[in-house]
Amino acid sequence: MIDDVERILYTEDQINNMCDELADKIRKDYSGRELIFVCMLKGSVLFFSDLVRKVGLPCRLEFMEVSSYGSGTVSTGKINIKKDIGCDIAGKDVLIVEDIVDTGNTLFYIKDYLEGRSPASVKICTLFDKPLRRQKPVSADYSGCVVDDQFIVGFGLDYDERYRYLPYVGVLRPEVYSS
Ligand code: 5GP
Ligand code: MG
Repeated sequence: MIDDVERILYTEDQINNMCDELADKIRKDYSGRELIFVCMLKGSVLFFSDLVRKVGLPCRLEFMEVSSYGSGTVSTGKINIKKDIGCDIAGKDVLIVEDIVDTGNTLFYIKDYLEGRSPASVKICTLFDKPLRRQKPVSADYSGCVVDDQFIVGFGLDYDERYRYLPYVGVLRPEVYSS
């Protein structure tokens, strides 16, 4: 464990098991359908690459990048699309893959945006969920686990672009925020 992390919440093994369980559900639900996975950059990139391999269905991979956070730990609530998907999703099944749903502002906006392009369906898969902080009515169709109201890093999740590479998920030491 690196010094900046105060405690580990989910080990690499626990995360791997969560990904297995989510992938099993998705495989059952989407078998025989034309699935498009949408990776919400950058936070979900590690989760995304594990998930699509574990699901193992023929699929298309697309990427979106939005900004909702400033450099710190508080959402600004304003969603700006920095990178959009690059294909027509009309008539297709879309599964948005997110690292964590917090206030719900990001996915409330993005789900509506994608639904406006006439897909057969748009669903949400998130590794982590913080329902206590919700400001918009967003619920994930597939959710790895619920976390308390605390800022977590690792396995794709960053603080100021740091810690994404960590194979586990943990809570930062308060000193890191104040330095
Ligand atoms: P929302 O729009 O739901 O408030 O924010 C979703 C995005 O905020 C997530 O995709 C993630 O990038 C970021 N976020 C929310 N909570 C956390 C957290 O605890 N840790 C980190 N690193 N990012 C978070
Ligand atoms: Mg994110």
